[in-house]
Amino acid sequence: MHNTIAIVGGGFCGTVLAANLLRCPPADTTDIVLIERGGEMGRGVAYAERDYPYLLNVPALRLSADSGDPLQFLRFAQHRLPNVGGEDFLPRALYGDYLQDALLKAERKAAPHMRLQRIFGEVLRVTPHASDDRLMAQFADRPPLIADRVILALGNPPSPPQPWAEAVGGHHAYRRDPWDLPKELGAEHSVLIIGSGLTMVDIASALTRGAKGSPQLHTISRHGLIPQSQTEFRATEVQEDRAGFLACGNSIRRVLAMTRELALKVENEGGDWREAITFLRHLAPSLWRRLPVAEQQRFVRHVRTYWDTHRHRVPPQVGEHIAALRRHGKLRVNAGRIDSIVPHGEQLQVRWRARGGDTLAVLTVDLVVNATGPDYVLKRSADALLSWLRGAGLVTEDALNLGLRTGPYGACVDAKGRASERLYYLGPMLRAGHWEATAATELRDHAERLAAHLIRGLSANTTGGPAGLA
Ligand SMILES: Cc1cc2nc3c(=O)[nH]c(=O)nc-3n(C[C@H](O)[C@H](O)[C@H](O)COP(=O)(O)OP(=O)(O)OC[C@H]3O[C@@H](n4cnc5c(N)ncnc54)[C@H](O)[C@@H]3O)c2cc1C
Repeated sequence: MHNTIAIVGGGFCGTVLAANLLRCPPADTTDIVLIERGGEMGRGVAYAERDYPYLLNVPALRLSADSGDPLQFLRFAQHRLPNVGGEDFLPRALYGDYLQDALLKAERKAAPHMRLQRIFGEVLRVTPHASDDRLMAQFADRPPLIADRVILALGNPPSPPQPWAEAVGGHHAYRRDPWDLPKELGAEHSVLIIGSGLTMVDIASALTRGAKGSPQLHTISRHGLIPQSQTEFRATEVQEDRAGFLACGNSIRRVLAMTRELALKVENEGGDWREAITFLRHLAPSLWRRLPVAEQQRFVRHVRTYWDTHRHRVPPQVGEHIAALRRHGKLRVNAGRIDSIVPHGEQLQVRWRARGGDTLAVLTVDLVVNATGPDYVLKRSADALLSWLRGAGLVTEDALNLGLRTGPYGACVDAKGRASERLYYLGPMLRAGHWEATAATELRDHAERLAAHLIRGLSANTTGGPAGLA
């Protein structure tokens, strides 16, 4: 017997999944084929090497990619930087180095019948294989790959099309990709960052590092809320009654009230509200599944922004930097909506409406950066593979358009409502079924469960012929 597992996407999820498969192989000879369209495996968007040392938003102590070895990342970091402590917030690129190292170590220690192949190329389609029930991954510029299992680990989709971007798409002062920033900005320049979440914080940090002084920054988002800061809170301190929380899981209003009460109680006892959020974070998938769709919708509409800004926080030093920019008037945070953006010579003129107001304000800036975040709405996805898979009926969206509809272990649910036994999804679009599925720890846990499931399935599998490159 010979199995092939194709993992499309060699970022965080693909790498952690491959390492897990290598650690506990199925009985039969197995090829794990890790496919990446970018230049490097193991980093993805989050942990790429960039010209600014962006920091992880979780202390080193809590970021192991292996739940069985919780200090693995800290040990790796201390090997490189001996003075690093467990509570330190380290560079994201170092985490990328760690992921690559973890995969290499898993590969070296793997059983002889497990082989890891790295392929560079973009998968454009995954189709049922004509002669049996396996799958075929098709590329633009290389022969197709036939596999017993295909795992989609594609990362975050591109940001949604914005009507206000139509007139400025090709203008040099508009950046659709927030990681493509000009280097030469100084105190005489002004920048509008659209969106005020974690990406805005990254961009504001990078743009204000320069010796030439900081440009004047503006940000606009619907609520004008920015992420809270991390502290050295006690992550495992709250020992609340989980069953009590789960019991009110059919009303988001009740969950919210209980969360507020818990945060208050924690603070009154000398703790930190972040402990209550961490408690909720671990319950989130179970709570989410219990909420009726109408209540999930209520959460998305009314609570999500508040949850996101409290749950997904920035390192303390980054939070202090952002607070200082705001104190000195260098970063203006606005709640409102963009009406239009038009070229104004070398600059861009932005018309926007403050939240709750009618009048249009005008802002003229040297640069507009789109930091509105990924577009999870599958039916308008700009991702070639996802939109092809949806068109072919192999993947479907959830009722709220939060991501992909998946069954147990991330099995893709097709247009007829059937959970696939061969096609799986691993990544942030799992939030449709779990809500909290975007941070490294949650995705690591999903990767571990999926690896165990795949191995069980392949070990039990006694059918199928030789697979591999067609
Ligand atoms: C900027 C940023 C910073 C973050 N920082 C933190 C943090 O500090 N702490 C934390 O806990 N979480 C953080 N996260 C969240 C989390 O760690 C990431 O979202 C996680 O890395 C997602 O992993 P992924 O494998 O799904 O996506 P990625 O790591 O982005 O990998 C997806 C890969 O798939 C490839 N790909 C896509 N389509 C194809 C195709 N058709 N064919 C071939 N290859 C393809 C892409 O090129 C990419 O390399 C951050 C996320 C981002 C975006």
